Amino acid sequence: MTDAHFYIEVAVALPVYQTFTYSVPLYLSPFIAVGKRVLVPFGQRRVTGYIMGSASEAEPSEIKHILDVLDHDPLFPSSMLAFFQWISDYYKHPIGDVIKSALPGGLTLYDYVSLAITDQGETALKNETVTALQRSVLKLLETGPCRLKQLNDKLNQNVPGALIQTLQHKGWVSKTRELKPASAKGRTERHITLGKPIGSIDRLSKARRKIIETLRQRGEISMSDLKKQVPSATRLVRALAKDGFLTVQHKRVYRDPFGEPINADTAPDLNTEQQKVIAQVNDKLGQGFATFLLQGVTGSGKTEVYMQVAAAVLNQQQSVLVLVPEIALITQMERRFRARFGERIAVLHSGLSAGERFDQWSLILQGKVPIAIGARSAIFAPFAAVGLIIVDEEHDASYKQESNLRYNARDLAVVRAKQNNCTALLGSATPSIQSYHNAQTDKFIEVNLKRRIQQRSLPTIKIVDLRESMGYRGTRRFISAELQRAIKETLDRSEQVLLFINRRGFANFALCQSCGQALRCKYCDISLTYHQKANALRCHYCGFSRAASISCDNCGSMEIKKIGLGTEKIEATVQKLFPKACVARMDRDTTTRKGSIFKLLKGLHDRSIDILVGTQMVAKGHDFPNITLVGIICADLSLSFPDFRAGERTFQLIAQVAGRAGRGASPGRVILQTYNPDHFSITTAQNQNFISFYNQEIHFRKMLKYPPYSRMIHLKISGIDHQLTKEHAATLGKLCQSLKTSEPTLYDTVDILGPIESSLAKIARRYRWQILLKGTHTNALHQFISRLMADHPKVFSNRRVRVVVDVDPVSLL
Ligand code: ADP
Ligand code: ZN
Ligand code: ZN
Repeated sequence: MTDAHFYIEVAVALPVYQTFTYSVPLYLSPFIAVGKRVLVPFGQRRVTGYIMGSASEAEPSEIKHILDVLDHDPLFPSSMLAFFQWISDYYKHPIGDVIKSALPGGLTLYDYVSLAITDQGETALKNETVTALQRSVLKLLETGPCRLKQLNDKLNQNVPGALIQTLQHKGWVSKTRELKPASAKGRTERHITLGKPIGSIDRLSKARRKIIETLRQRGEISMSDLKKQVPSATRLVRALAKDGFLTVQHKRVYRDPFGEPINADTAPDLNTEQQKVIAQVNDKLGQGFATFLLQGVTGSGKTEVYMQVAAAVLNQQQSVLVLVPEIALITQMERRFRARFGERIAVLHSGLSAGERFDQWSLILQGKVPIAIGARSAIFAPFAAVGLIIVDEEHDASYKQESNLRYNARDLAVVRAKQNNCTALLGSATPSIQSYHNAQTDKFIEVNLKRRIQQRSLPTIKIVDLRESMGYRGTRRFISAELQRAIKETLDRSEQVLLFINRRGFANFALCQSCGQALRCKYCDISLTYHQKANALRCHYCGFSRAASISCDNCGSMEIKKIGLGTEKIEATVQKLFPKACVARMDRDTTTRKGSIFKLLKGLHDRSIDILVGTQMVAKGHDFPNITLVGIICADLSLSFPDFRAGERTFQLIAQVAGRAGRGASPGRVILQTYNPDHFSITTAQNQNFISFYNQEIHFRKMLKYPPYSRMIHLKISGIDHQLTKEHAATLGKLCQSLKTSEPTLYDTVDILGPIESSLAKIARRYRWQILLKGTHTNALHQFISRLMADHPKVFSNRRVRVVVDVDPVSLL
């Protein structure tokens, strides 16, 4: 009988574009299924791979065996393979790495080198003369094998590679490759219920009695809650459970981030606009692929629409995926969805520990929950079939991943909906130009909510011309008399204030008074920002930090003046103006620690914070009814960005941050300070007139052939060596040109812009160049880059100069 081998196609978790065929030894064949991980030999290494399907047989001599099947159950449904494949093709990213990025972290096995002492080594340690360092290495290995990487740490000194080689030569030490095990595991909490009847409890100790009584009252309690009442609960429960009087179960517990119980809500009576939108969307449910763009002003009840459509989808036994731009907003969405749908929800975001993420992933995969809410990576939620994908605040740039696999979750939502033959619902008060254009050209179906709930008025926006205060010194320059008065009035009414400025830190320049140079980052071609609390100058691109009391690099003068402004300076200034108010700040500096965002949001929620100063973090979708004044300190910062989307971002930011005002019963107002009061991004935002903004902006996009009238692919070339990087960029530029001229009929719609030095010419020691490919025909553009990468693989995987391909770039800096 011949060996009943069969073959599978495997994508390895390495940066290679193709998949590989492996054979399966007989004893492993019962365990093979699409979506499971396997361990495979790859060159000298063993690596994790993902089973993509069966493969037709190949020359058996060339085919290697898989070494192991790593999962009991598949990690993703086979229906997602087409999605992964699409992503790999479109974003020009290796398929194995696409799958790896999609899966919760900590699931990849890696090889590492481990050292162990041999028998000869043991003997040598006793009988032969060895050097002191050799002795310490051998002594350490006597206690057990050690990873090469950890050797230095454990011995607290540097062990030269040559010494290890000597020990190996002598046969005293052996080197083996071992596997680093997966780190992600589920996390649970113990829950206690009553077991067999215990009869009279009078004879029990006081503490034991208390436990039984509590359980009789509450039915079930978590160990942590029980410990609050009976500190010695752990020991007592163990004893009682041993006798069968209690049952202990491991359960996953949900915690509200505000630490409050979430009460079930009932759906409100919908207004006519909401009814109409819901009817339009529901009408198409289950009828195949459709994308809706819900344009609804801030506070118009979009979330209510999401929930009602979701309910309809759940009624059809289908699942719902909800994407929210960032963690802080997931909290809010999660609360509202939990209040409506109870425990049928999983959440996925980077704030979860690896174990928690894995848990949530499993719940979805096993079909235990029909709803998943999360940030951009939740687009990979492993539902076998989805009925509805909601993308809230669809215009938000955080849907774009800016590292490794550079995808846009908003765009992928539409792709996944199409592949699943279901509905996508994108919502925003300020839709992206791209999406609105899709609605205008009938790719999306536009639905509207034009009014706020309960006839609440949109806040009035007052423009203050900052040019008039240019002559002032001190606070007056950026807190105008008008804004100061408005803050006072708001605080007097015990209402809350939001102050927005799109820059963190205290001063954005430290300028030498003698020679006029700005102090720059050592590793980036960027001026340093002054942070007062830390008394440090920091680089916002690489994190480099130096003491603020420093002399000028250029001329040695100590006279450094800090100019410009940021959140920290506004916070300090406002606190000085209003000493009794509680002023807090929300930006990337104050929210690095886990849970700090929630603390700030809770402060707003409890009204313990009177004034919140923040960056765009505060502009996004939060719903705090007591905020009645929003101050936009300087609307121009985003306008001056060297990016064709600067106008779009500015409009969105102003309209969004203004939308935080007056969401409760009292009306809201906004004071918008700017140096460009006549710019159309600002005037249209003042009237919150998205259509008017769109009509002007789209005209300019069309004229210059910018997206949505073209697509772009951004080639980012970077390296430590200035000259090499520049040359590599030039080479790549020439290859682009010659490809274009080699087949003019095919590629005449592809424009090649560059190579040029990037606007941020150096970040974190790396010099940066770029080439922008622009094409009016998507297919031709994608063929172009695929050909380029296939014909010149070495140019794209150079050891010293990195070339990153960013398809549909969002940031061009
Ligand atoms: P958006 O997401 O459009 O900014 P929300 O969905 O947050 O608006 O709605 C704003 C507020 O109005 C929320 O507090 C919400 O509970 C409430 N709301 C929504 N729809 C209704 C309705 N039909 N009747 C009463 N209140 C509603
Ligand atoms: Zn100087
Ligand atoms: Zn830097």
